[in-house]
Amino acid sequence: MEQYLNPDTTGRMYIDGSWVDAESGATRRITNPFDQRHIATVAEGDERDARRAVEAARRAFDSGPFPRMPAPERGRLLRRLADLIEQNAEELAALESWDTAKTMVESRVDMEDIAGIFHYFAELADKHGGEVIASPIPNTSSRVVREPVGVCGQISPWNYPLLQASWKMAPALAAGNTIVMKPSEDTPLTTIRVTQLAEEAGFPPGVVNLVLGPGPKVGHELAASVDVDLISFTGGIQTGRSIMTAATSNMKKVAFELGGKNPNIFFDDVDIDLAVDYALNGVFFHAGQVCSAGARVLLHESIHDRVVEGIVERAGKIVMGDAFDEKTEMGPLISEKHRSKVEGYIALAKEEGATLALGGDRPDDPALANGFFVSPTVFTGCRSEMRVVQEEVFGPVMTVERFSDEAEAIRLANDSTYGLSGAVWSRDQDRAERVASALRMGTVWINDFNVYFAQAPWGGYKQSGIGRELGPAGLEEYTETKHVFQNHATEAQNWFGNGT
Ligand code: NAD
Repeated sequence: MEQYLNPDTTGRMYIDGSWVDAESGATRRITNPFDQRHIATVAEGDERDARRAVEAARRAFDSGPFPRMPAPERGRLLRRLADLIEQNAEELAALESWDTAKTMVESRVDMEDIAGIFHYFAELADKHGGEVIASPIPNTSSRVVREPVGVCGQISPWNYPLLQASWKMAPALAAGNTIVMKPSEDTPLTTIRVTQLAEEAGFPPGVVNLVLGPGPKVGHELAASVDVDLISFTGGIQTGRSIMTAATSNMKKVAFELGGKNPNIFFDDVDIDLAVDYALNGVFFHAGQVCSAGARVLLHESIHDRVVEGIVERAGKIVMGDAFDEKTEMGPLISEKHRSKVEGYIALAKEEGATLALGGDRPDDPALANGFFVSPTVFTGCRSEMRVVQEEVFGPVMTVERFSDEAEAIRLANDSTYGLSGAVWSRDQDRAERVASALRMGTVWINDFNVYFAQAPWGGYKQSGIGRELGPAGLEEYTETKHVFQNHATEAQNWFGNGT
C-alpha cells in the first residue's frame, strides 16, 4: 500500500482544467491517524482560490459546452468516470485508509459503492425528458422541464471523504451543473485522485473544480459567494448553521446532510445473538464515526440484561489496529481534537449518572499509542434526557436505555432533535411496521442496520438535514423546474386599448 503514497509531491487544486498551487503558496501536511505519520502534502487554499474556482465554474456554466451537452453524452462521461473508479479502486481504497485510518475492508466496500453511484447517475442522466401537463386552457400546451441549477459548491466531511463527495458530484454532473468541490482539510486525498480521474474521463475545463483548505475560509467563501447557485454540505450541525446563514447572500439553494443520534430498537422477540451482533455493528463500525451510527440502543426490559451481557463480552474483544492489518476490526478516531471531544462525552456520561459497563479509556497496547484510539465503550442505565444520549458523540460509545412497551420505545426514539435514521427489530411484522411508520426519520430499517444504496433516497428529518441525496430525489436536488407554456391561438384577445 506504500506504493500509493508520495509525501513529497504536493497534491494540488484543480481550477479551470489546470492543476494549481494555492495563490498564497501555503501547503498542509496530511498525516495518518493511526501513527501520525506524514503521508502527503497538499495545497492549502483560501478565499482567493475559492473565488477563482467559482469564476471558472461560472464561465463553464454560463457559456461552456457542458450544460448544453445532450444528456446521453453527459451520461457517457459519467460512465467513463465510473469505469475509471473501478479500475483504480484498490488505489483509492488505500488512499482512503491512509487518510482516515478506516480498515481496508471498509474502504474497499466504499469504493465499490462509489463506482455504483456514478453508474447509477450516469444511467439516470438522460431519463428526465420532462413532462407534458394537461393544460386547463384551450389551444395551449404546457410542459415541465428540468434544467441544471448552475454552479454548485460541494463541501464534504472526513468520515466518508469520497463516498460523501460522490453523492454530490455524480448527480450534479448528471444534471449538467458545474461544480466546486471542497473536501475536508483532514482527508483530501481521494477527492484529489477522483478529480484526476474526472480529467482523464474528459469533463471540459471549468466543469469539475477542486479547492483545498480550511472550512471557515474556502467553505465559507463557497457558501457566501453570490456566484454559487447551490451549496451542498455534509457535516456537523453547527457548521450547517453557519453555511445556511452565509447562503442568504443570494438566497442560494441549500442541501444539507447533518448529524444524527440514531436509535436501534430491539423488541422482546428478537434472537439475542442477532441483536448483539447488530447492536455492535451499528456503533463500532468505523469507530462510530458514522452519521447513521446506531449509538442509541433501546432494549426491551425482558431482553435487556442478556443483550447487554453479549454486547459487553463481544465489544471487549474488538480488535483495534492498523487499517492495513487484516485482523483489525476498528481503527482510531480521526484526530486528537476529535478524541478529546469523544472523551469529554465519556466524562459527561459518568457525571450524568450513566453506568460504565465497558471501556471508557484508551487501549493500553503500546502498538496503538500513536493512534487516536478510544476503546469500545458501553454505558447502561441511560435516560433520554442525558446529553450523552441526545448529542452526537461520533465515536465508539454506545448508550443503552430500556423500555417496557411499544409506545415507550417510539416516544424515546423520537425524543431527539435529530431524525436521520433508526432501526426496529422484531419478528412481529405488524409491530415492526407500526413502529417504522411512527419514527420521524429519513431512513428506517426493519431487522437490519445501516443499509443504503444508490437507488434509494438518503437524508434527514428535523435537524438532520434538508433535501435528499441518492435515488431520483438526489438528481432532482440539482435541477430547477421550468414550466413552458405555449398559446397556439392566432386571434388577439384585445386586452387593452379598446376605448370602452
Ligand atoms: P464539519 O462540519 O466540521 O466539517 C465538514 C466540512 O465543512 C469540512 O469540509 C469542513 O472544512 C467544512 N467547514 C467547516 N467549517 C466551515 C464553515 N464555517 N463554512 C463552510 N464550510 C466549513 O464536520 P466533520 O467533523 O467533517 O464531519 C462530521 C459530521 O458530519 C458529523 O456531524 C456527521 O454526522 C456529519 N455527517 C453526516 C452525514 C449524513 O449523511 N447526514 C454523512 C457523513 C457525515
